[in-house]
Amino acid sequence: MGMLAARMSCVRPSQTKAMTLRAAHLRAEGQSVITLSQGEPDFDTPSKICEAGIKAITDGHTRYTPVAGTQALRDAIVKKFKRDNNLTYERDQVTVGCGAKQVLFNALLATLDAGDEVVFPIPCWVSYPDMVQLAGGVPVPVVCGRESGFKLSASALEAALTPNTKWLMLNSPSNPTGAVYTRKELEDLAGVLRRYSRVMVLSDDIYEKLVYGDAKFATMAEVSPDLKDRILTVNGVSKTYAMTGWRVGYGAGSSELIKAMNTVQGQTTSHTSSISQYAAIIAIEGDQSYLSDFVTTFEERRRLVVDMLNTAPGLSCDVPDGAFYVFPSCAGVIGRKTPAGEVIKTDMDFALFLLEEFGVAVVPGSGFLASPFIRISYATSTEQLKTACNNIVLACKSLQ
Ligand code: PLP
Repeated sequence: MGMLAARMSCVRPSQTKAMTLRAAHLRAEGQSVITLSQGEPDFDTPSKICEAGIKAITDGHTRYTPVAGTQALRDAIVKKFKRDNNLTYERDQVTVGCGAKQVLFNALLATLDAGDEVVFPIPCWVSYPDMVQLAGGVPVPVVCGRESGFKLSASALEAALTPNTKWLMLNSPSNPTGAVYTRKELEDLAGVLRRYSRVMVLSDDIYEKLVYGDAKFATMAEVSPDLKDRILTVNGVSKTYAMTGWRVGYGAGSSELIKAMNTVQGQTTSHTSSISQYAAIIAIEGDQSYLSDFVTTFEERRRLVVDMLNTAPGLSCDVPDGAFYVFPSCAGVIGRKTPAGEVIKTDMDFALFLLEEFGVAVVPGSGFLASPFIRISYATSTEQLKTACNNIVLACKSLQ
């Protein structure tokens, strides 16, 4: 009998983290590496938010809080949902966890029985399939190709639903593709869901504020209020306010579901840091003006990256509407030879070639269950992005 539980056989370490680690390793050996594999803004947390954290310490807010989060933070979140999404929740319909990640996991653990299916479009965030499996469920990935803008259509959803479907997980703007669902697209999906009353919807809105050009953010609970009781809307401060390390995410849904999620959390982490919770109140309720600076900067970088990558032979990149990722196809480099004579067979081979020979860390599409693609995060300085994209172009030109 082995040391590890059987459930560990279906969990992979995150490929995003693996690439970032490999890059750090090469850097430690003295190689210069630009990391475009990270899923976090390169900005510092705005100083007013940091000051609120420091004040929480000096004011002595350093003890346990309620499992669901402090009342003040949950009230701030209730107001946020009203202000930004026209959604009305009571305080006990809101829970706060150690990042959106824990909120998602709590929801799955609280609801999935063996054999319950969770449908999600792929490409998807690396953690969805693994989280579902850890919680004992069955992931049901639905391939959503580039031609459909990497988005799930009503007919594809309907074809994936079975009597065992428990959840549909949606993520808009999407990691890794940057795809943003329109109101109409969500309405179409809701039209199907109305006929399947057992299916719940997990709406992962973590990139809500990072939407560009004419694209508009919409969320399922707002678009289809009649389904609100079976929708869990998840969001957090990590990406919006450059607070990834503070570990604050939240969810809002039916009181029954939230209560069960709190029971799970109460027996695992209890709650996220009291200090982070105080800082998050200021992030959510305070001055929001720096958001437009973040968005403007990201939007400029998005253009730059797409334009440069489309000059690379073998790559082809659409302009995504949101988040801070581009997801170019690398179909055109598959089968080609590196100067050392190695054939690039997969997007993983291509990502390793970019890293080892040209000092650029990206994540292969296989990590998001979609190949052959690479994910490039433009949450890094414009100067570094220029150098990195230039290196990617040179890398593609060096292939035969
Ligand atoms: N959901 C998606 C789609 C993400 O990309 C991430 C982070 O990368 C998260 C959720 C989790 O964010 P956090 O746990 O930092 O709130």
